Amino acid sequence: KAPAIAQDTIVFDLIQQEKQRQTHGIELIASENYVSEQVMRAQGSILTNKYAEGLPGKRYYGGCEVVDQIEQLAIDRAKELFGVEWVNVQPHSGAQANAAVMLAVLNPGDKILGFDLSHGGHLTHGSPVNFSGKLYKPSFYGVEPETGLIDWQKVKETARREQPKLIICGASAYSRDWDYQTLREAADEVGALLLADISHPSGLIAKGLLNNPFDHCHIVTTTTHKTLRGPRGGLIMLGKDFENPFGLKTPKGEIRMMSALLDSAVFPGTQGGPLEHVIGAKAVAFGEALSDAYTDYTQQVVRNAQALANGFLERGYQIISGGTDNHLMLIDLRSKGLTGKLAENTLIKADITINKNMVPFDDKSPFVTSGMRIGSAAVTTRGLREPDMARIVAFIDDVLMHNADDAYLARVRGEINEWMQQFPLFA
Ligand code: PLP
Repeated sequence: KAPAIAQDTIVFDLIQQEKQRQTHGIELIASENYVSEQVMRAQGSILTNKYAEGLPGKRYYGGCEVVDQIEQLAIDRAKELFGVEWVNVQPHSGAQANAAVMLAVLNPGDKILGFDLSHGGHLTHGSPVNFSGKLYKPSFYGVEPETGLIDWQKVKETARREQPKLIICGASAYSRDWDYQTLREAADEVGALLLADISHPSGLIAKGLLNNPFDHCHIVTTTTHKTLRGPRGGLIMLGKDFENPFGLKTPKGEIRMMSALLDSAVFPGTQGGPLEHVIGAKAVAFGEALSDAYTDYTQQVVRNAQALANGFLERGYQIISGGTDNHLMLIDLRSKGLTGKLAENTLIKADITINKNMVPFDDKSPFVTSGMRIGSAAVTTRGLREPDMARIVAFIDDVLMHNADDAYLARVRGEINEWMQQFPLFA
């Protein structure tokens, strides 16, 4: 007789605690969101049991008839959502998607040009602590000290000087839109490929609220769990004109399509079996993102971010670049005499979650930082609107001004917990 399966109360109690934390507080981490119940149901499903190395219709395992249909649905929905020709839905994360792209189009030691991590870029765009900075030779462009904006002509100059094989655009903490056209000119001048990592604003891009990278960039990667509001994961995409831009050659000299190179760079290049339960959840999330309700959501995300930015500016906070075009902003706390670390640690006492963040030309370490990054994607999912953003800014300002008064912070936390009850997670 099979032994009874015990409930793992330890883990499930902790999950319950995490649910309480996510429910009671104000979530402002720009890279986070709340997925729907059906996304969670797909991800927590029996699909996790299935091995499916390969691609739909071309697997190395039997029994893939059903997961083939699920993965094909995810592919088809992603193609429709972004209006692209080709998608690989298997990357386990954004970092994995970028690793696969670099494996596909670069050789070790090749030069890459990315947005500086300390100005808002991502680790996978050439940081020395990441594979991208260890395997390839990185150089960086950044923002201008006076404006907090990227000077696109200067990126061109840097590209001319550095002669990279790959130019990477996209960021984790840049609140303005990207000039993909000028970046493409920079890439064409030096014979580089242009990769856009749209991990943060991909949901807004899918709905046409920001410039379209697919018109200009050879390859586009994204995470699926930020503004896109799906399960944690990654995607690699090709717009219609960029199937085989350089006639890339295999070591045997045969010309392979870019899509084939990217497919094999994901598996077997950098990953083993795809996570079909996550791919199922991606398919569900892409289906949601194709709806009018999600279009409304993305528009509200932008309106809420602008309301947050205006609220902070009115209270004398400094926002890098002076505002936002997307879902996030980076606030320089030095004018308030605060550090990012103090802000993060104080706000959490009132159940407001943000993350400390380096600001461009920061004089503090990454463990302290002078800034905080704030995003509107998660609170918008919960149904908060512009007037609520004004209230959030008031709470944040109040909490930061009382950062040494724990009793005061506990009272504010009580108020916030009560307020958040009006915004159930799964309305
Ligand atoms: N690229 C960018 C621009 C990101 O902001 C992130 C995550 O924050 C990633 C890649 C990596 O995504 P993941 O954490 O899923 O590996």
